[in-house]
Amino acid sequence: MILMKKEIILTGDRPTGNLHIGHYVGSLRTRVELQNSGKYEQFVMIADLQALTDNANNPQKIRDNILEVFLDYIAAGLEIDKTRFFLQSQVPALFELPMYFSNLVTLSTLQRNPTIKNEIKMRGFNKSIPVGFLTYPISQTADITAFKARLVPVGEDQLPMIEQAREIVHAFNSTYGKEVLVKPQALLPQNQTCKRIVGIDGNAKMSKSLNNCIYLKEDPESLRKKVMSMFTDPNHIRIEDPGQTENNPVFMYLEAFVTDLHFEKFLPEYKNLEELKAHYQRGGLGDVKVKKFLANVMEDTLAPMRERRAKFEDKKDYLLEILKRDTEYAKEITNKTLNEVRSAIGLNYFTDNKL
Ligand code: ATP
Ligand code: MG
Repeated sequence: MILMKKEIILTGDRPTGNLHIGHYVGSLRTRVELQNSGKYEQFVMIADLQALTDNANNPQKIRDNILEVFLDYIAAGLEIDKTRFFLQSQVPALFELPMYFSNLVTLSTLQRNPTIKNEIKMRGFNKSIPVGFLTYPISQTADITAFKARLVPVGEDQLPMIEQAREIVHAFNSTYGKEVLVKPQALLPQNQTCKRIVGIDGNAKMSKSLNNCIYLKEDPESLRKKVMSMFTDPNHIRIEDPGQTENNPVFMYLEAFVTDLHFEKFLPEYKNLEELKAHYQRGGLGDVKVKKFLANVMEDTLAPMRERRAKFEDKKDYLLEILKRDTEYAKEITNKTLNEVRSAIGLNYFTDNKL
């Protein structure tokens, strides 16, 4: 019998804070589905090195968030015996590969990367950009290619990173004449709203760094408060006024999370989101009613996550053991790719007996 090698999936998250519902609909929910399909070998990386690129003076923050992010993964539905979890900084191939890849990328390509440009502005780096930050797309290419991952389930902000990775793979394979590296592909969520979830303040992206998040570990009371404080259509002043559902964060979150079952359970006078939207658009439906419904939908979504999280919250030693075990496995896999890369370039002086 020929055993087909399973396709490989790699993703990661920066341990700069707890994961939020943007991470969930943008990437984690897809990872859970892929994991449960049983068709793939999935690696999930806690990207502590990437987190250092803009937190060099605050390594304690990164330390504090490593197991927090692991707990968020478990809360989201990733499982210890179905997915591999590892720590980026403990896998040497991931910081050797960028050395080789960086020779294949120009400064202007990095400077043109729209996500990097935007993040530089957000962080106020402007004229003093840390080199490590500017080059993190190269390091991310190493993370993906070291595992020969073909699929990377991500939100829209990551498209330029995947494109950069594809260019590096092309440059590497054509320069060194071997099909060593695999071109990765982004796997975006189907639902347009989920590709980039807006913040509760209406800002274009919910982001740990912008303080506009609903976290997966949010407790019921603060969840309700956050939802009730959300930004909606600013022109929908009186209940009778017609309202906009497009670009309205409350409706965007409903698009990302609501099911017809939620209507049955919490708002049976409407069958589905289409009916609710139509009422809002023609006027006569108040924001408070929609927000209360959204709060129920979110609570229904986050409650099972809190339960899964609670089962592991006081088992930190166990989580650390798992992280260690899977990191060892990640080292083995990535060292194989590293060896292939070194031989493709011809750096295997001591083993090829040709010098
Ligand atoms: P930071 O502010 O530290 O950069 P972040 O909130 O942007 O944090 P990352 O760790 O950079 O989170 O992103 C991890 C993954 O989650 C990526 O695949 C990214 O595309 C996805 N993601 C992050 N924010 C959102 C969002 N608002 N909507 C959809 N996907 C998102
Ligand atoms: Mg980010």
